[in-house]
Amino acid sequence: MNENFLSFAAHEFRSPLTILRGYAETLQEHPHLASQVAGKMVAACDRLERISRALLLLAQPKKDVSCFLSEVLLRCRENLSERHPEALFTIVGNFFALELRIDPDLLEIALMNLLENSVKYSKSPAQITLIVEGNEKAVTIVVADKGIGIAPESLPFIFDRFYSVDSLRSKRLGGIGLGLSLVKAILQEVGGDIQVTSRLDQGSSFTLRLPQAFTRAGRQLV
Ligand code: ADP
Repeated sequence: MNENFLSFAAHEFRSPLTILRGYAETLQEHPHLASQVAGKMVAACDRLERISRALLLLAQPKKDVSCFLSEVLLRCRENLSERHPEALFTIVGNFFALELRIDPDLLEIALMNLLENSVKYSKSPAQITLIVEGNEKAVTIVVADKGIGIAPESLPFIFDRFYSVDSLRSKRLGGIGLGLSLVKAILQEVGGDIQVTSRLDQGSSFTLRLPQAFTRAGRQLV
């Protein structure tokens, strides 16, 4: 985050704000469209809220935070089924005892960004699997979809700010190429990392590695 934080924050807000302005102007000119436009305005507000929460948490990271992975995954499942009831979402792995050294809101934001991307870049209904594995050093969480995939020449750039493989398509879907850079910033903040593998027309897998896993008894995993 450091010295680029302000520019990052300013740009993060632009996309949902532009969308909100567009809908507000539509309403001014065509008040009879209120029922169609209102839901989209609420969705843009939700996105703004999520981004501002993430930026605040990244700007002033809380010390000594931890969370139970199962609780965060439950919230992600609920969010996803509210927003995309058609999506087929499976969670695999023995994660009930896992406690992670990360703010639960930040982890939720990172996972929701990946899950929303899996929906955006898949033919409906998206098929998404989240796989959790824990060992003595780290917990890995894989978010895998069977969507459009990413061409090998684009893969090295997808975590860069403002990079979109197909910027017209991303804009149409409400993105401007910042979601993955935010996810990467979150992982860096907690000393973890994120990697991707993908094949065009077959799907993508994003692997998050989060350090310092504890069991529910407070014992480091061995
Ligand atoms: P955007 O707002 O454009 O979605 P992101 O930073 O979230 O920005 O993602 C960067 C680019 O990576 C996207 O424009 C898209 O081309 C590609 N991408 C991200 N996630 C996926 C995915 N699950 N499947 C296919 N392409 C993806």
